[in-house]
Amino acid sequence: MKIGFIGLGNMGGPMAANLAKAGHDVIGFDMADVAIEGVSMAESGVAAAAQADVVITMLPNGQILRAVAEDIIPVMAQGAALVDCSTVDVDSARAVATQAAEAGLLAVDAPVSGGVGGAAGGTLTFMAGGSTEAFAKAAPLFDIMGQKAVHCGEAGAGQAAKICNNMILGVTMIATCEAFALADKLGLDRQSMFDVVSTSSGYSWTMNAYCPAPGVGPQSPADNGYQPGFASELMLKDLRLSQQAAQSADADTPMGQAAAALYEQFVESEGGLGTDFSAMLPRFEKRGRG
Ligand code: NAD
Repeated sequence: MKIGFIGLGNMGGPMAANLAKAGHDVIGFDMADVAIEGVSMAESGVAAAAQADVVITMLPNGQILRAVAEDIIPVMAQGAALVDCSTVDVDSARAVATQAAEAGLLAVDAPVSGGVGGAAGGTLTFMAGGSTEAFAKAAPLFDIMGQKAVHCGEAGAGQAAKICNNMILGVTMIATCEAFALADKLGLDRQSMFDVVSTSSGYSWTMNAYCPAPGVGPQSPADNGYQPGFASELMLKDLRLSQQAAQSADADTPMGQAAAALYEQFVESEGGLGTDFSAMLPRFEKRGRG
């Protein structure tokens, strides 16, 4: 298959390399000067997209996605598929899908989970929105770049699933960190706290698989000085997307709102920028009630 790949950063670079390694003809473009093994580079997004059977985008946000889509949709071949794997707002995902459909293209919004490690290892999970035909066209590529792809529904459904998942993740990480900080102040040993909670009704992915306390549970960014992993500012981005979606859908999400406010404070004025999102634990450790 001839694949155009636009946005070859931390995630897009290894994803494109895996497609090339699997034998696809991958033509890439990035604003930055990057070289990816097996990928031939085009002069522009338009050049990478023209004549491709599938164009994949992996970009920072919805505004950039809309601008790139505006440029490439008119040059894409009839029946080709535009597969956006970035995490963006639901409204941008739907707007791009509508524009693509009007131009006779297939479209899938397919954000991922699994991070940079999953991108490099080809073990990402894709959550996809779009028609059955569009999903079927992209599915063989999801199989190369990931280990699971869930077709969640029509356009925007992939982004909706991603945003809801990450809202749970942000809220749960905060709950886990504040519980550890409270346990510390109650004189409870962290290993005991882990042993109990990880096998009791407070268990969660953040406790069991990504424990924010160093030296406790499986290896996690906490054991590496809270280097990301998944950066706090990316968590903030996703929580903001959840709140934007909640606003436009008139949904009541008080915990998501509180989590967004806390990560905003952490990233913007408490030194959280560039730290893993589990660095909420040392933040709570330093604080008292007042
Ligand atoms: P990144 O900043 O490393 O990569 C984005 C790339 O897009 C950059 O190389 C940038 O130069 C390029 N770019 C920006 N504007 C462009 C344009 N107009 N045309 C062409 N290229 C352009 O970010 P990333 O970590 O690779 O994340 C990409 C997306 O994946 C984001 O939406 C992010 O939220 C999502 N995501 C990231 C992770 C993660 O752990 N990093 C996990 C899941 C999802």
